[in-house]
Amino acid sequence: MHISSPGKRTITSIRPVFDREKPKMYIETYGCQMNVNDSEVVAAIMQKAGYAVTKDIGEANLILVNTCSVRDNAEQRIWGRLEYFRQEKKKRPDVSVGVIGCMAERLKESLLENNIVDIVIGPDAYRDLPKLVEKTESGQKGINVLLSREETYSDISPVRLDKTGVTAFISIMRGCNNVCAFCVVPYTRGGERSRNPETVIRELKELSANGYKEVTLLGQNVDSYSWDSVYFADLLAMVAEAAPDMRVRFSTSHPKDMTDNVLKIMAKYDNICNCIHLPVQSGSTAILQKMNRKYTREEYLLRIETIRKIIPDCAISTDIIAGFCGETQKDHEDTLSLMKEAGYDFAYMFKYSERPNTRAARQFRDDVPEEIKIKRLTEIIDLQSELSLTSHKKDLDSIVEVLVEDISKRSENDLCGRTSQNKMVIFPKENCNIGDLVKIKITDCTQATLKGILI
Ligand code: SF4
Repeated sequence: MHISSPGKRTITSIRPVFDREKPKMYIETYGCQMNVNDSEVVAAIMQKAGYAVTKDIGEANLILVNTCSVRDNAEQRIWGRLEYFRQEKKKRPDVSVGVIGCMAERLKESLLENNIVDIVIGPDAYRDLPKLVEKTESGQKGINVLLSREETYSDISPVRLDKTGVTAFISIMRGCNNVCAFCVVPYTRGGERSRNPETVIRELKELSANGYKEVTLLGQNVDSYSWDSVYFADLLAMVAEAAPDMRVRFSTSHPKDMTDNVLKIMAKYDNICNCIHLPVQSGSTAILQKMNRKYTREEYLLRIETIRKIIPDCAISTDIIAGFCGETQKDHEDTLSLMKEAGYDFAYMFKYSERPNTRAARQFRDDVPEEIKIKRLTEIIDLQSELSLTSHKKDLDSIVEVLVEDISKRSENDLCGRTSQNKMVIFPKENCNIGDLVKIKITDCTQATLKGILI
């Protein structure tokens, strides 16, 4: 049974402009959701400067890569892409290449030394991009990596680059004031600043008017959102009320900052999805202290208990790092036992990768041997596979509400979408459309997806 259908979506000013006459910008995005949203802000800035967005690198006058520095292999991938862009420049020497985002902020001028990159621009300097592009037209290189205490791009309506027009991101804050020992973000994105709630609501209403059905509020640490006397729980309520027909999600929460008020607001509004991403990073209090996470194992588990009490059907996901500096076998076992206690529905799991100039790089030795890191990570991934399968099995035979997001990658005859708990569901297309909210009976599952039929 269909619960609602969006009808014809009127997608107007905030879609990309594809225009044969204008110079063209191609943008590739790596890393987190914040970067995805930043690329949309950059597209809006360049569209205003007269550029059209293209998905064909071969016709672009300007190639941008929005980068991530969070792990070494993320940066290695970008170096690989830069070599590919070198070939494009050989074919068409008038093309400009820009590196933007976290890697630009971290490596600064050094990125200009390779005869590939013309522009380097950090996360707080995107408004300067048209000026720097103009500079490259006279053969010069351009760089701006100044961090700001105020910039939130709150007056810019991002050009939505995704193709389906169902889900979108709104950044509610930028930067981070925590100094987790492993993390490069405070150095690449600067200090924390929140965005005026009125501008958040304005952007939300634009999305709603353009047919979007779900919004994810983004921040490095949404729980420390603060604008005058508006805190994150207040903002969440404002958003839920301003767009009652849209689903609302948010990311990322910090276990030390998440309040009961946020949980109560989630429980109060049906359109706020029942899922929380609550990065734990380690199950050992000793390692959490070294990581400067500012909570203990017990405090974290108490947060989980409170979430389950206030929102009984809330899905919980997490981030875990295997093999942080000084991690013993016992610390690792603490992580495994915490995972079981928390019963995560989903997790992002990585082995520790030292990032230059972070607190960990300055204070600790990256002393867990690579083969041990890999072994521990494998155990963590194997355990999470079991936990995810257990979580999905609980949904068998139940009826769930799914927002249809796209055609399934595996079959054109199937659609895919997510439940409130952020679980991916695949089901035969029948007469549903992308953007519909439908009821699906779950008939089968794997650890990665639920499968079902429309009812
Ligand atoms: S909260 Fe910690 S892990 Fe998250 S962005 Fe800030 S410093 Fe990095």
